[in-house]
Amino acid sequence: MSNVPITVAHGDGIGPEIMAATLHILKEAGARLDIETIEIGEKVYLAGNSAGIAPESWDSLRRTKVFLKAPITTPQGGGFSSLNVAVRKTLGLYANVRPCVSYHPFVETKHPVMDVVIVRENEEDTYAGIEYRQTDQVEECLKLISRPGSEKIVRYAFEYAKKFDRKKVTCFIKDNIMKRTDGLFHRVFDEIAKDYPNIEADHWIVDIGSAKLADTPENFDVIVMPNLYGDVLSDVAAQIAGSVGLAGSSNIGEKIAMFEAIHGSAPRRAGQNLANPSGLFLGSILMLVHINQPDVAEAAHNAWLRTIEDGVHTYDMYKEGVSSEKVGTKEFAEAVVARLGQKPEKLKPVNYSAASAESSASEKPAYTIREPKKKELVGVDVFLDWWKGSFYGVADELGSLVEALNGDGLKLMNIANRGVKVYPGGLPDTFTVDHWRCRFVADAGEGTAISHSKINSLLERFDSAGLDVIKTENLYNFDGVKGYSA
Ligand code: NAD
Repeated sequence: MSNVPITVAHGDGIGPEIMAATLHILKEAGARLDIETIEIGEKVYLAGNSAGIAPESWDSLRRTKVFLKAPITTPQGGGFSSLNVAVRKTLGLYANVRPCVSYHPFVETKHPVMDVVIVRENEEDTYAGIEYRQTDQVEECLKLISRPGSEKIVRYAFEYAKKFDRKKVTCFIKDNIMKRTDGLFHRVFDEIAKDYPNIEADHWIVDIGSAKLADTPENFDVIVMPNLYGDVLSDVAAQIAGSVGLAGSSNIGEKIAMFEAIHGSAPRRAGQNLANPSGLFLGSILMLVHINQPDVAEAAHNAWLRTIEDGVHTYDMYKEGVSSEKVGTKEFAEAVVARLGQKPEKLKPVNYSAASAESSASEKPAYTIREPKKKELVGVDVFLDWWKGSFYGVADELGSLVEALNGDGLKLMNIANRGVKVYPGGLPDTFTVDHWRCRFVADAGEGTAISHSKINSLLERFDSAGLDVIKTENLYNFDGVKGYSA
């Protein structure tokens, strides 16, 4: 079988040591790789590349489409942007996959039975970085969830479950509050789950779901989540499994994938042959499966499990009475190499034979191209910056000012402050800030179509009245169904 080209970056701090250890094990296990090396991280940042990666390195990534990356150090001070974010966004790595496994009793954990895979959406949600200061008192962050983006990640989670013979996929969302954005994610989850009748599908509101995950992780299998919840909970899951030092992750795009440890460059441990290479090594196992070398992945992973249960541990895993030997980075890698061909006896061996590229081929496309629904403009929310020197009891005053702008087929329906209706019929006890939403609908009633020109003339009336419009949001119906929050 021919070699597979991959791009490797050795990174900063402990990066070069754990990468050398990882590549040594892969080579001895018979991985069929042609390695292209690129430079990323501190040196590249300090040479003037603000994202920590040189322009020519992108060529290698686009050529090999597989990136094994050691952790890097982001230099202190301003002007440097996150390399991970740049790589993720530029290459469209929409899925972050993090297996979180406990190795009881060989690695200390409160959860002896835990084998959870977190699948985190990686491109959308509040992470688009679209933020604005709108008034003196208020900042805004836009949360964007798209149907194709949700379809891609949810389908990925179910395909992952199918490929790795997982029994259940759980969705975490907060759609009791975010009925539109998280509601869409949840609906897509329910739709796609129907294509996988052999995999159990369930969902939890993220708050109680997280509590259950932290308490009884043995009840979870694969969990799929929008970006923000996934960011938080993938760290929680790795930590309660035993150690963030033991987890690897993959970032999957439609064309390119990146594999890494979840920890950072641990500069204080660098250059001392102390660091645990396991996180990066387990990232490289995900890579071997991805490039269809499941035989090598299985041999290397089982040798690693055997090393762990034989008690050969780096300092971070070492525990008197449990461990048999405290070793350095290099010696740990040698111990794994010495066990190639062996399987663990107490921990469950891995079996990747079913996880070939063929079985992962989905019959369904990742996302569907649908006929857009009929969209109708039915109103507008006009947001105002208005401050009367008090946090209480001013809504009625604003109400009369805005009510006076009714006309030309539009009328004020209500005014809200941070989502709470304050006019008409508000209470003087409600706390209000300088950020107001005035909802206008057709004279004939909510749901009746209006024109853009009516909104334009309404905005002119706001301007003439000396009211400071900070933005508008159009209200639309889609096939007659309301597309905005009440
Ligand atoms: P860190 O993950 O580097 O270290 C946290 C703690 O865990 C430290 O006590 C460290 O000694 C220990 N640790 C981490 N990995 C270990 C390993 N393999 N073996 C043994 N012990 C290990 O996090 P930090 O200290 O917050 O960050 C250090 C640098 O890493 C920063 O510059 C940060 O920006 C960067 N970082 C990079 C990545 C990445 O490249 N993906 C991720 C996180 C942090």
